[in-house]
Amino acid sequence: MRTSQFHLVTRKETPQDAEIISHQLMIRAGMVRKIGAGLYTWSPLGFRVLRKVEQIIREEMNASGALEMLMPAVQPKELWQETGRIEDFGGQLLAMTDRAERDYFFGPTHEEVITEFVRDEVTSYKQLPINFYQIQTKFRDEIRPRFGVMRSREFIMKDAYSFHLSAESLEETYRLMEQTYTRILSRMGLEFRCVLADSGAIGGSGSQEFHVIADSGEDAIMYSDSGDYAANIEKCAAVSLIDQRSEPVEELSEVATPNQKTIDQVTEFLGIKAENMVKTLLVEGVDGPVALVVRGDHQLSEVKAAHLPEVATPLRFLEDKEVRALAGCDIGSIGVKNLKCPVIVDLTVANMSDFVCGANQDDHHLTGVNWQRDAEFQQQHDIREAQAGDPSPDGQGVLKQARGIEVGHIFQLGDKYSKAMNAVVLNENGQARALQMGCYGMGVSRLVAAAIEQSHDDKGIIWPTALAPFQVAILPMNYQKSVQVKETADTLYQQLTEAGYEVILDDRKVRPGFMLSDFELLGIPHQVIIGDRSLDEGFVEYRHREKMEKQKIEHAKIHDFLQQQISS
Ligand code: ATP
Ligand code: MG
Repeated sequence: MRTSQFHLVTRKETPQDAEIISHQLMIRAGMVRKIGAGLYTWSPLGFRVLRKVEQIIREEMNASGALEMLMPAVQPKELWQETGRIEDFGGQLLAMTDRAERDYFFGPTHEEVITEFVRDEVTSYKQLPINFYQIQTKFRDEIRPRFGVMRSREFIMKDAYSFHLSAESLEETYRLMEQTYTRILSRMGLEFRCVLADSGAIGGSGSQEFHVIADSGEDAIMYSDSGDYAANIEKCAAVSLIDQRSEPVEELSEVATPNQKTIDQVTEFLGIKAENMVKTLLVEGVDGPVALVVRGDHQLSEVKAAHLPEVATPLRFLEDKEVRALAGCDIGSIGVKNLKCPVIVDLTVANMSDFVCGANQDDHHLTGVNWQRDAEFQQQHDIREAQAGDPSPDGQGVLKQARGIEVGHIFQLGDKYSKAMNAVVLNENGQARALQMGCYGMGVSRLVAAAIEQSHDDKGIIWPTALAPFQVAILPMNYQKSVQVKETADTLYQQLTEAGYEVILDDRKVRPGFMLSDFELLGIPHQVIIGDRSLDEGFVEYRHREKMEKQKIEHAKIHDFLQQQISS
């Protein structure tokens, strides 16, 4: 490709609304352009990278035996009524109506559509197991579309759905997909981790997420510093930090804590540590309010709390008025003694003794509180967020924390959808059995941004070779005027193109400094700089985008040298 025949529009200024580096660089390099909230056009340059991501995914999915297909993006509402998922997805669903007043959604995911397909097409165990996939545009009306294509509203996903007669067969394909995802992300040259995950609105029993490690990642992931355990913080088990409850030592007493509302204020006022206090949080339950109690230095896990059968979903904290009606005080003074609602405590809290909590009276706290003697709880559960330094739940070492970008999520759904939609097959004995199902998503457009997030410097993108829009850039200085520069550049361009490489030759009439900084921004891995001065000495210059030092290569040897660089 010659730049004169391509579309290259770069920008020097950092766009105002782009918060993270991948978004800034994608706009500056001209890979994407925004046309509305969470809606992007992919330029020919950006599209080349998107296609690379797609192609690696496609090759590895095909190698795993999965079958590519294409489902409609627009889905009849009735299908979603069958599974009752309209509420789960809530405002994320983009609804539309046709001229005959029939209702549709633009698909945010395709469990319903594939199950509808399979219930008609797959009738016998002999057709199983089978794994279908597609690469397609999805729409989710995200509350906060941001970070460019990282969290957009319209985006491209690879979604696969497998069907099985038995849970064992599902488990086998699930493991195969785990390996396939590992191969896909390794081929893309990304640093990533596979972690245990919460299944969210998709549902089912087990799931794992694949995260590209990056400081800007929206997810916190916890991993053992010496074992294999790794989990999204939403799912990470938080063990009790106290092995056994000690006998009470202190007397119960009430202390005035005027205007001390937060944990920090109260601990400072009383001269105690946050780990000697508990926080009592009142939430809406399925049957009246419920109190959730975590240690002062811990955070309630809203995901774990929402999973408790006693707690209403979505999770809702009681408002000031409701708190006063129940506890008789403001939020800063709620405590566990004589609270008129069920009390569910975290595992660490269950083993605390001589602790401090609110007195259920404004501006007052209780000290020396002990379970059984002074207050009761009904249940103990893991309801807090794990934090760095906690013992790892598998008993191996301690937990560390990293930030991750979720690029893939694999689920064992079991029979959730096949039961709801009555998708059955006949087994060996002619009996009807609900299909076992798995689903496997991967964010194609998000992966492009994640790769940049992981690989860039202050000058621009540094593409891993597998994803680069072009492998080689030929950068001739004075191409328009110097015959020897033009001839050298054209010959090299022709040779490399014929050898099957993706090459871009910059034949624009621009200043050398401008051209070099454009290609730093674009991140093309292998760059050949051709100028009169070095040609006179028999050399051309080579630089790798990552290392950047220029290397003099004998003119006659550049073709072989490049082939060696690209294949290494
Ligand atoms: P998130 O927690 O980031 O919203 P999700 O759990 O909703 O993701 P899934 O339903 O598992 O995502 O979708 C599969 C994959 O699609 C995700 O792993 C992610 O890579 C991608 N994806 C999901 N939502 C978006 C979005 N708004 N923009 C871009 N990619 C997305
Ligand atoms: Mg989501």
